[in-house]
Amino acid sequence: MSKYVSVDPATGAVVKEFDSMTDSEVDAAVEAAHSAYLSWRHADLGARTALLQRIADQYREHSDDLAALMAAEMGKPVTQARGEIALVASIFEYYATTGPDFLVEEQLDIAGQGSATVVTEPIGALVGIMPWNYPHYQVARFVAPNLLLGNTILLKHASNCPQQALRIADLISAAGAPVGVYQNVFATNDQVAQMIAHPAVQGVSLTGSERAGQAVGSVAGAHMKKCVLELGGSDPFIVLADADVPSAAREAATGRFANAGQACTSSKRILIEDEVWDEFLEEFVAQARQWTLGDPSSADTRLGPMASVAGRADLEEQVQDAVGKGAEVHLGGTVPDGPGAYYPATVLSGVEPTMRAYREELFGPVAVLYRVASAEQAIAVANDSPFGLGAAVFGGDEARAREVADRLEVGMVGINTTVKSAPDLPFGGVKASGVGRELGRFGLDEFANKKLVRKL
Ligand code: NAP
Repeated sequence: MSKYVSVDPATGAVVKEFDSMTDSEVDAAVEAAHSAYLSWRHADLGARTALLQRIADQYREHSDDLAALMAAEMGKPVTQARGEIALVASIFEYYATTGPDFLVEEQLDIAGQGSATVVTEPIGALVGIMPWNYPHYQVARFVAPNLLLGNTILLKHASNCPQQALRIADLISAAGAPVGVYQNVFATNDQVAQMIAHPAVQGVSLTGSERAGQAVGSVAGAHMKKCVLELGGSDPFIVLADADVPSAAREAATGRFANAGQACTSSKRILIEDEVWDEFLEEFVAQARQWTLGDPSSADTRLGPMASVAGRADLEEQVQDAVGKGAEVHLGGTVPDGPGAYYPATVLSGVEPTMRAYREELFGPVAVLYRVASAEQAIAVANDSPFGLGAAVFGGDEARAREVADRLEVGMVGINTTVKSAPDLPFGGVKASGVGRELGRFGLDEFANKKLVRKL
């Protein structure tokens, strides 16, 4: 039975199916990754940066067709898809140009006791496990720093975006990557565990759900392999009483509805101080109305279908649970007739701790607005979540907004902005949102051997 299936989320049509690999094919891929590592780690730094630059160039050259495939395979509107491809190119270019600075040997100050030098070295073949929601960006932020370091990659992509998984491998190969340096593996979960356990594999990076993070993290732990886990989020977006309300409402709507709300750092819980509740609610609903559903292949579409009918069914259950227990629907909330995985921009309020929507991640275009009596209560509600990925605080007094930001249990926080990923900014969370960081120098250090060289 095929495990990797490409379905057009706008129509529900099965487009292509691919068989999972056999166990011996998986073993051969691990051996090839290991043997490639033995030479790639010693390749001239200039050869490694040149490969990254050529990958960036390939991404720019093929932006339109990559965006079209993204729209067709996971429903992202093409304009947003082109934005993702531009970000991916900038990540590869960043590690091609700035990355070598992070590899410079560091002399430690040890007061006349000889010398102590920290050298940054690769560690070996790595497994990457990636989700479909940003199918190129998630791969890039893992692959670019590790190819620079000299590690090699076995990439298991989500089972609903196999065409893009193959496209990434083709593109990296066309950029001149030596055989075995980057391989796509259509692996089952058991085969992923088999790869992590293999002595040649030194680490694993997973971006995905809490459930997948627990499964993969425990396999990594059992075999003492380094792991990075970038998991779910339920990011708070706090609107203080002195915020510029129209601007906050616009940012919150973009933060919630871009990529049909299927982003880990989406503004999933919007906490509004009492004084500006009415004004914000009106502005936000007006903004949300502008996110009308459309064909993802059209340049005018802002809200495409969700990536799958199954994902939409999960979201619909969470919304119905909240509505059944008394939540108020200000907009949307009903599955439209017709084919595809479409779900409208939806705005809820009155969500209580007894409802699933209070604690669970809503992975779709559903905004939950909470009316809070004070900044103090906003902080308490924001932190009353198993997740701790990103957050935003909007307020006219920046020092006050910063005080609020400092008390949030998250890995990233924006003041008068949502958290937006960039090649040089660390990305990651605390609590159930994961372990480790990606991007910038922090991302490069995750799978590096920081080797001490001591001389007396
Ligand atoms: P998912 O079901 O966890 O899948 C993510 C990846 O993990 C897929 O490749 C999946 O493969 C694989 N996987 C799942 N269980 C596995 C197991 N037991 N062993 C090995 N691999 C396994 O997540 P999703 O629904 O596709 O993605 C959405 C989630 O990702 C959300 O929670 C979102 O917040 C999170 N996310 C986090 C970040 C971040 O940076 N923190 C960024 C983006 C998304 P199959 O497809 O074959 O099941």
